Amino acid sequence: MERLQKVIAHAGIASRRKAEELIKEGRVTVNGKVVTELGIKVTPKDEIEVNGVKIEGEEPVYFLFYKPRGVITSVNDEKGRKTVMEFFPQVKQRIYPVGRLDYDTSGLLIMTNDGEFANLLMHPKFETDKTYVAKVKGIPNREDLKKLQKGVRLEDGMTAPARVKFLSSDRKKNTAIVEITIHEGRNRQVRRMFDSIGFPVLKLKRERFSFLTLHGLNPGDSRVLTPHEIKQLR
Ligand code: URA
Repeated sequence: MERLQKVIAHAGIASRRKAEELIKEGRVTVNGKVVTELGIKVTPKDEIEVNGVKIEGEEPVYFLFYKPRGVITSVNDEKGRKTVMEFFPQVKQRIYPVGRLDYDTSGLLIMTNDGEFANLLMHPKFETDKTYVAKVKGIPNREDLKKLQKGVRLEDGMTAPARVKFLSSDRKKNTAIVEITIHEGRNRQVRRMFDSIGFPVLKLKRERFSFLTLHGLNPGDSRVLTPHEIKQLR
């Protein structure tokens, strides 16, 4: 749902102000009815005409992005930190990230301008598997990891069962590498899950999102999703 004047402006027909004037002048219709109010909201399914000509929405675009550490998952940041948007200067469409990775987390992030698709992937019912590789302080044993598998109590409730795989450890440095797959997407969830069993996360990377991987990409790289991948995700 977006404001009518914003949609007209983004279709490249007029500035936001000019779009407001067009609406007030009665030159805009939504699904065949003249609209002169400024407040109304429309969806991509609504048919909008300006001066009797249908406006086309933005073409949907889909990217798989390897977010580096030290980048904020946000369209803009009031503290002036580097945002994910800075990696897409050539993209005209108004894309945004699907979900969020912490500032210090690297890994796979989908960027799109297709709100319906984004909502679908984010919806808890959809249960998209996300696989993370965590470097943790300390070396958890089988029992510790079982707790994560079963679900742990966080301040916002129990976590759903997770798949957990111990990958390696460094006895000298007292650290371990653990892979964890979850389908929920609560704020800082993986970090909080490891905190809850006493092994704080030192480094975190999202390696998979559903069947998508970072294969062939370096931090900061992106590629377009293929039509087949998009279909499979829906
Ligand atoms: N879990 C976290 O703790 N951080 C992320 O960025 C993603 C999942």
